Amino acid sequence: MNTLVMKFGGTSVGNSGAIRQAAEIVATQKKTWENLVVVVSAMSGVTDQLISSARLAAQGDREGMQQALQAVTARHQQTVNELIPSAQEREILLANIQQRLDELTTYCHSIHVLGEVTPRGMDVISSMGERMNAQIVAALLRSMAVPAQAVEASQCIVTDRTFQNAVPDMAASREKTQKVLLPLFHQGFVPVVTGFMGATPEGVITTLGRGGSDYSAAILADCLDAAEVWIWTDVDGVLSADPRLVANARPIPEISFAEVGELAYFGAKVLHPKTIRPVVARNMPLWVKNTFNPAFSGTRISQAAVHSGGMITAVTTIKHLSILTVEGRGMLGVPGIAARTFGAVARSGASVLMISQSSSEQSICMVIPSDHNQQVIDMIEEEMALELARGDIDRVWARDQVVIVTIIGSGMRETPGVSARVFGALGKAHINVIAIAQGSSEYSISLVVDQKDMAEAVRSIHAEIVEVE
Ligand code: ASP
Ligand code: MG
Repeated sequence: MNTLVMKFGGTSVGNSGAIRQAAEIVATQKKTWENLVVVVSAMSGVTDQLISSARLAAQGDREGMQQALQAVTARHQQTVNELIPSAQEREILLANIQQRLDELTTYCHSIHVLGEVTPRGMDVISSMGERMNAQIVAALLRSMAVPAQAVEASQCIVTDRTFQNAVPDMAASREKTQKVLLPLFHQGFVPVVTGFMGATPEGVITTLGRGGSDYSAAILADCLDAAEVWIWTDVDGVLSADPRLVANARPIPEISFAEVGELAYFGAKVLHPKTIRPVVARNMPLWVKNTFNPAFSGTRISQAAVHSGGMITAVTTIKHLSILTVEGRGMLGVPGIAARTFGAVARSGASVLMISQSSSEQSICMVIPSDHNQQVIDMIEEEMALELARGDIDRVWARDQVVIVTIIGSGMRETPGVSARVFGALGKAHINVIAIAQGSSEYSISLVVDQKDMAEAVRSIHAEIVEVE
């Protein structure tokens, strides 16, 4: 069985022009692949609007809520009117979407009354964008003589009850997905599945986390033993740097799962970080392609990517961070300080992005998201109260407004001199490096710099290393 799963992201289905473009791509691929599954995101910005309407409702801002709902309604109605030629089909589709919108309005009203929105309620509401869009895309495909049917992923993807960040049960999902989608394949249909959502075994709607439609595509591909997954977006693939920072950022023709995993972890908005999990085990190639430039091949992501370029594949950044330092001479040689420090951090709920300890053992520093700052400091101070009182630890403090710059490339493995070139480039640009870490995978080097130096740091590393290779 020759199956391809294609996912279209928010901007690829963000207005009628884009949806038409996406549908053309589906029609073309339908000719080559025996079975085709389409996974759609909500129209760009709709998930945000849905979430904000629920929040406004909870805050008692009825007018704001109604405005947000009205904007969502108008956008979908306009898109349907622009896309669907047959009056009859249009009526059916508009009625269908109206039903979703009515449901949505009812939910928002009850949130308004209760003055609170639960994570479970938020999932029902935030998945509405995908549910409406799958209907639109399927109807358009039918109008182009491509047999298609909208499918709600709650029929296919079974998850636990971690609302807003649900974890799929792969065995159960496999069974359901095959049961729902295989009969559609046999009838020659293209299933148009809602991204982002799933459901508990009892059928309660869940979502896979923001940006989760990529993950949906990978889960379905795994469940269907697909040959490949194609992620359609609005750029020419995975880029070597953020094009807003680096004008010469270029699409990477091939990249490995390990590298793309680091990239996603280190802030590049290429793929939902969990996307590669289902495909890695099967060594299923994943492509990132541009809906608005479909003739371009894009980026191929696979287990053993063959590098055409040099040692470094990409430079990426994470913003809004703080570097937190626990320092004191009394820490020298005392076992358990690091364990207790990180235990305290874990209790505060903050995730640690980077750690380093100087070998003199006089400080431990870690990088955390800035919004967790004070909580983390409080927790560590509480844990270390005795050491602070005794003066073994001098202070726990945070430096705000820092960023992590990560240089990624499996080509730097066991290749000496890469870090020298990185620091050389930064030195030439007069950029101060606050902290450094290299993962033992040797796929990446991360450094912390001041937020104000971020753009220049990325540009100088990109220019000195990525562009010359
Ligand atoms: N619509 C969802 C979001 O905006 C999921 C996705 O687009 O991948 O987070
Ligand atoms: Mg996305």
